[in-house]
Amino acid sequence: MKNIIFSGMQPTGALHLGNYLGALKQWVELQDKYPCIFCVVDYHAITIPYQPKEMEKRIAELALDFLAAGLDPDKSIIFVQSQVPQCTELAWIFNTITPLGELERMTQFKEKSAQHKQNVNAGLFTYPVLQAADILLYKANLVPVGEDQVQHIELARDIARKFNSTFAKIFPEPKPLLTKTPRVMSLADPSKKMSKSLGEKHYIALTDSEATIRAKVKSAVTDTSGGSKAPGVENLFTIIESLDQDGITGELRSQQKKGTLKYSDLKDTTANVIISHLRPFQTRRAELAADRSKVGEILIEGASKARQIAAKTIAEVRDKIGVR
Ligand code: ADP
Repeated sequence: MKNIIFSGMQPTGALHLGNYLGALKQWVELQDKYPCIFCVVDYHAITIPYQPKEMEKRIAELALDFLAAGLDPDKSIIFVQSQVPQCTELAWIFNTITPLGELERMTQFKEKSAQHKQNVNAGLFTYPVLQAADILLYKANLVPVGEDQVQHIELARDIARKFNSTFAKIFPEPKPLLTKTPRVMSLADPSKKMSKSLGEKHYIALTDSEATIRAKVKSAVTDTSGGSKAPGVENLFTIIESLDQDGITGELRSQQKKGTLKYSDLKDTTANVIISHLRPFQTRRAELAADRSKVGEILIEGASKARQIAAKTIAEVRDKIGVR
């Protein structure tokens, strides 16, 4: 069976280094090997409180991030989830074969419902079912995501299996595709994953200025335990290595072994590597931002291609479940 890649990101504000190293950077590389479909998942983003007036801008900003990072509309299908209505149709059908108990186990649901106590809605609960529909609508079998999403991909696999055994074998069983940095940690609290919801000092946004990046890395927590392999120190090493700069860490690693490593040197190197890697991204982003109508056209074209695939799958699904 041929491999098809699908993945998505929510338009919830600036992307951070975790999103990039855990997912987006790999998406760019995969485009040369497989048919790829990448999506701005706006229907996922409305499961937490948001400003409707800001949504359009957020979608456009995320599309800019995708393109600036190197996603190429000539190689991949790039589109916005809500522009393909078959996705929500398939999600409804999948709802009817997804055990409640499976959804109750989902860590992300537990975390997000604790974070948004005032709005624990059914959409937040069935979020992974919509995600399964996203993936399976395109019969994708490889899903490049960060570690936090693995549980959801496993559920998508269970849903595919359940559909195949109940109705007809039409879906592949998707698998997650992890990078060597499936979990980038917060700079200010390396026991937690890097995430925007923790606050500014915990993450580096791909659009942060040079001065901001230096300041955030400088104040990163390194070693509170006195151990030589403290999580904060390892996180900085991992960031450098994940930015394809393994060579640079050799000397620092040997200093670490000898116990002579200065954290200020490690931080300077980390900041330099991040800045030089993000510079071309930021330049491209600014160029693309000057021609937003082009970005809009790319998304319209992508949605049209996605709908063609989606229409075929949903016709097959309706046929198999007896709803014609
Ligand atoms: P978030 O997880 O920040 O709310 P999304 O759900 O849109 O954002 O996730 C986008 C992608 O980024 C997912 O594949 C997710 O697994 C990945 N990701 C998010 N945070 C990290 C992190 N700290 N380390 C590695 N990957 C991450």
